[in-house]
Amino acid sequence: MCVDLKEQVAIVTGSSRGIGEAICLELARGGARVIAASRNVDRMRSWISEHPDLADLIAPTALDVTDRAAVEGAIEETLERHNRLDILVNNAGITADGLVMGMKDEQFDSVLDTNLRAAFWTIRAVCRPMIRARRGRIINIASVSGIMGNEGQANYAAAKAGLIGLTKSVAKEIAKRGVTCNAVAPGFIETDMTNVLPEELKARVKQVVPMQRFGRPEEVAGMVAFLAGPAASYITGQVFVVDGGLHT
Ligand code: NAD
Repeated sequence: MCVDLKEQVAIVTGSSRGIGEAICLELARGGARVIAASRNVDRMRSWISEHPDLADLIAPTALDVTDRAAVEGAIEETLERHNRLDILVNNAGITADGLVMGMKDEQFDSVLDTNLRAAFWTIRAVCRPMIRARRGRIINIASVSGIMGNEGQANYAAAKAGLIGLTKSVAKEIAKRGVTCNAVAPGFIETDMTNVLPEELKARVKQVVPMQRFGRPEEVAGMVAFLAGPAASYITGQVFVVDGGLHT
């Protein structure tokens, strides 16, 4: 059954594909009006066209989350157009894997900028309007890498661990104003991000994941919709792991 999100307005970053696409669709199924914010608008138009029943609820919007002015502008525009913003999902993310001893500054910075700094910008921009409305849900897509660490992902794990710290701190700052802030930490999910992994690594992952498979984007989106919905009203500052039992 869908979570009831009627009348609510959501913004989801990094929604041109994968987990972001699934989150947009799940929020729209609940009745939310969704601003799908990502760099590739054509790609968003393409998956939206496959869901004509939800198309009126999803607005594809060009956004590069590493552009602070554009991030702040997108949030301002959403508030002006809809006069409310109930749900923020920080989903945009990149990897640039490599062992730390050979990692370039650029490799570290770009991953930190997209996965962490951008979330700081969106959160800072939505805090005041959400507090004023005494209502709001902020959901950050972290990763089990940010909890467990991962070989070859010092930059990514640092960014996701930072995102978890950001989540917990923001949650404490705004809890009494009726706004919640939580993180979802996926394990290995079948998307373009993991499709590029070597086949032998994918096979090894399936062996160590107790459920012996990769997750599907919808399985992450379901948790996001739950956290955005009425049943999660007393939950804040938490990290929800969606990983088939990998991290226990
Ligand atoms: P993906 O690569 O398929 O999608 C990432 C999305 O982010 C794309 O739409 C991409 O265009 C967008 N994006 C990247 N940089 C951006 C920027 N500067 N501005 C705007 N959009 C940008 O990956 P995914 O697997 O769908 O990942 C979604 C989120 O889930 C990411 O934060 C990722 O770190 C996290 N995650 C994924 C997995 C996994 O196994 N797939 C595991 C843990 C966490």
